[in-house]
Amino acid sequence: ERGRLARLRHTPAITLDGQKVELLANIELPDDAKAALEAGAAGVGLFRSEFLFMGRRGQLPQEEEQYQAYRRAVEGMQGRPVTIRTMDVGADKPLDDGARVEAHLNPALGLRAIRLSLADPGTFLMQLRAIMRAAAHGPVNLLIPMLAHASEIRQTLALVETARQDLERRGVPHGPVKLGAMIEIPAAALILKTFLKHFDFLSIGTNDLIQYTLAIDRADEAVAHLYDPLHPAVLRLVAETIAQCNAQGKSVSVCGEMAGDTSVTRLLLGLGLRSFSMHPAQILAVKQEVLRADTGRLESWARQVVEAEEPAALLGP
Ligand code: PEP
Ligand code: MG
Repeated sequence: ERGRLARLRHTPAITLDGQKVELLANIELPDDAKAALEAGAAGVGLFRSEFLFMGRRGQLPQEEEQYQAYRRAVEGMQGRPVTIRTMDVGADKPLDDGARVEAHLNPALGLRAIRLSLADPGTFLMQLRAIMRAAAHGPVNLLIPMLAHASEIRQTLALVETARQDLERRGVPHGPVKLGAMIEIPAAALILKTFLKHFDFLSIGTNDLIQYTLAIDRADEAVAHLYDPLHPAVLRLVAETIAQCNAQGKSVSVCGEMAGDTSVTRLLLGLGLRSFSMHPAQILAVKQEVLRADTGRLESWARQVVEAEEPAALLGP
């Protein structure tokens, strides 16, 4: 099976009815770019930058170290786009500096991801500058995690502008970045218009979207049986996000585990998704599903799945 899949590495990901599909890699460290390329990824759809920040005992990586790391990932992808997400620490990804993040009662609902970045603008600006500097070496998209409020969007955009002006004023080489937001809180999906207005692209983080829609801690074994990617409420949020983006010609991808799960590839294609970002090890298996799919025939079936009381029953083998 592995060997047979390996032959698909250079095969373009196009459906039977000629729809081009973008298969991207999720990476955690710059050197993962190698695995992404080997799997035939069209780019990096999610660079989880928090892995540079974790386990540092309070010694956060400074601008230069971050710049070098992002630059290595960008150069490693040899001209393919790299989507760098600003640090998403907290909850299941503790920063490891004790009091700041981990002491909170309910970390998944606490000061994590962009909330933490906005609470510490100096650290956030440093990361933004490092990412913009890396963009001088290849195409870079900047992705913001866990946004839910218009005020957070406004503050974020202002800081992005501040970082850019700062580099310009100092004459530091940097490149343009496209700006994107994760849709991973139900509130964000429900006010999508606001996100569509302010961002160049959106990326659906199904891991957290499932957690927050169903009130199921994604790391709690005791309720793992209720962590259901196919809950109709989850599917509706995913379906409507994709549909609204497509209607406006805005790029949208899924970068949660669902994107690499071959049992839902046809469903996501039927809902109009054309960009999937996943662990490199999943790319060829998902590509095989893409090559066998006829999206025209999947559309009405996909709508039925979303409307069903128990969608899993309609998915089949
Ligand atoms: C997600 O929430 O789906 C996601 C891609 O981000 P993470 O798993 O890093 O929280
Ligand atoms: Mg997430």
